[in-house]
Amino acid sequence: MKFFDAHCHYHDAWMAAHRACVFADLDAVGVRCAVVNGTCEADWPAVATLAQEFPIVAPSYGLHPWDAGNRSSDWEKNLGAQLEANPHAFIGEIGLDRWILERARPDDPRLAGLRRAPLAEQTEVFLRQLDLATTRNRPASIHCLDAFGPLLGALREARLPVGGFLLHAYSGSAEMAKAFADLGAFFSFNGAFLEPRKLRLRELYASLPADRLLVETDAPAMRLPSSHEKFPPLPGDDGALANHPANLAATYAALAALRGTTLESLAAQVEYNFQQLFGRIAPTA
Ligand SMILES: [Zn+2]
Repeated sequence: MKFFDAHCHYHDAWMAAHRACVFADLDAVGVRCAVVNGTCEADWPAVATLAQEFPIVAPSYGLHPWDAGNRSSDWEKNLGAQLEANPHAFIGEIGLDRWILERARPDDPRLAGLRRAPLAEQTEVFLRQLDLATTRNRPASIHCLDAFGPLLGALREARLPVGGFLLHAYSGSAEMAKAFADLGAFFSFNGAFLEPRKLRLRELYASLPADRLLVETDAPAMRLPSSHEKFPPLPGDDGALANHPANLAATYAALAALRGTTLESLAAQVEYNFQQLFGRIAPTA
C-alpha cells in the first residue's frame, strides 16, 4: 500500500532527535511522499535541507498566518529565492486565522514572541503568496481557522492556481466545502478528527467528494487519539508528546471505515488525487 502525507512539518526541531527512526517507520508503513511545509522565513532552510536528505520530502514554502506579523521586509524576495532554487517546490503553509486573534489564550506557549497580524494584514500577505502560486503555477496549501467566510471571499476575487489548492485539515461547514470545491479545493483529513467530540468533522469527511480527498498528519502537531495510534507519540524536550507521522496509515484506515470503503480503494483514490494536485510522481514510488 502507498500512502501520501498531504500536509506536515517533518523539519520541525521537535522531530530532529527522532528523525532517523521516524523516516525508517515512514518507509516501513509505505509513505511515498510527504509535503513538508515551512511556515516562516527562519525555517525554510531546514525544509530545503530535509528535502535534500530524504527523497520522500516534497518541500513547500510559505508564511503561515501566525507568522505573518513577524515577517521581514525581505520576505517576498526570500520566498522567491526558495522557489527559484527548487522548481518543484510548492507554496504553503499560507492562510487566514481569526482563532489566534479572538479565541487563543494569551498564555498559549505557541504564541510567545509572535506579533499577531490583524486579519486585513494576514489577508494581504496571504493574497501575495497565492498570487505567487498562480503566477509560478505551484500548488498552494492553505490553513484556515475561524475565517472561512473571509477566505471564500478572498479566493473568489483572486486568480487561483490552475491545478487547485489544498485546504489542510478543513474544519468549515459542508455548504462552504461545496463552494470551495467549486473553486478547485482539495481537503485533507487529519487523524485528530478521530477525537470523539469531532463527530461533525467525521460526518463532513464521510460526505466530501472522493476526488477531492487527501490525508495528512500535520506532524509533529495534531496527535490522533491514543486509541488509534499505532506508533507511540514522540517525546519532546519539555515532556510534551508529538504526533508520530507513521500514524498516517492508521488515519487512512479510519477514514476508509468512515466512508464505508476499503483501505485499498481509498488509498488508490488518494494517490490519484495527490498526483492531480501536487502534479508529480512520488520520488520513491
Ligand atoms: Zn501545518
